[in-house]
Amino acid sequence: MAENNPIWTVGRILKWTETYFRQKGIESPRLDAEVLLAHVLDRPRIYLYVHFDEPLQPDELAAYRGMIRRRADHVPVAYILGEKDFMGLSFHVTSDTLVPRPDTEILVQAALDRLGMIRAKSRTPDEVLRFADIGTGSGAVCLSVLNHMERTEADTVDISPAARAVAEENAASFELADRVTFYTGDLLTPLRGRRYAAILSNPPYIPDAEIASLAPEVRCREPRMALAGGEDGLDFYRRLCREAPSMLLDGGFLAVEVGVHQAEHVAALAGADPLIVRTEVLRDYAGIERVVVAWRQ
Ligand code: SAM
Ligand code: GLN
Repeated sequence: MAENNPIWTVGRILKWTETYFRQKGIESPRLDAEVLLAHVLDRPRIYLYVHFDEPLQPDELAAYRGMIRRRADHVPVAYILGEKDFMGLSFHVTSDTLVPRPDTEILVQAALDRLGMIRAKSRTPDEVLRFADIGTGSGAVCLSVLNHMERTEADTVDISPAARAVAEENAASFELADRVTFYTGDLLTPLRGRRYAAILSNPPYIPDAEIASLAPEVRCREPRMALAGGEDGLDFYRRLCREAPSMLLDGGFLAVEVGVHQAEHVAALAGADPLIVRTEVLRDYAGIERVVVAWRQ
């Protein structure tokens, strides 16, 4: 941006940033430029198109410059903005939490549909349904379920105290804090002895050898402990499938997000427990098997 005496209008700086981001190997250079500038100006993106010739103020330019520097360094847009939309809520995110992915909405919807079925069949439909969310990160899964379904309560676990702090902040800002309890610990360990209508998890599932080929935004910026699932990516499923069935109420279910080509293995792991009577596999918007559900009798 160090040209001679340029007047940085909205249109001009967007064009400049697009070229710069492209050179830096950013995947969606124009979109990212617009999203960041709209954020600095505190306007919707559409505003940019009708104010192409508007010059930026020096403070706006300084703020924007800081953001494009970070983006060019492959910091995800969500970390720069400090927020990510998921299931109609704007989640605060930091570099301690995975950025919630659209695919994970499949897990949330699967949980909502099935909790709804459990309630519809129940002789006590007014009763609170309690579920667990393991590896809660920003709280994307559990807070979305709570937000979309009344009379539900959740226990969540994450091994990262920093992620827990972000999830707690989100719970407070969505006014859901009185329906969720946060634990720091290892998978289901802090919840031992309790039983749930549902146990949900989007655990780390990337096989170790595949981490190196992830986009730099993920590989270098997102927490390794939110991604790495061991040699074949299935480490967390082995443990969840061993421990979760005995912690489900009768007629309850375990629902987990899975990576590409993992569904069959995870369904087999869950189905190996005699308490599990049926498994389902659900696909994401791209047609990839994305969620495994295992029902307790
Ligand atoms: N649920 C969030 C989402 O869907 O956006 C985050 C999912 S992220 C893939 C996995 C999460 O599991 C991370 O927040 C990570 O800190 C947590 N985690 C990793 N190992 C764990 C363990 N042993 N026990 C509990 N949580 C763990
Ligand atoms: N879906 C994420 C990715 O591919 C991985 C999240 C996970 O391991 N659960 O980047």
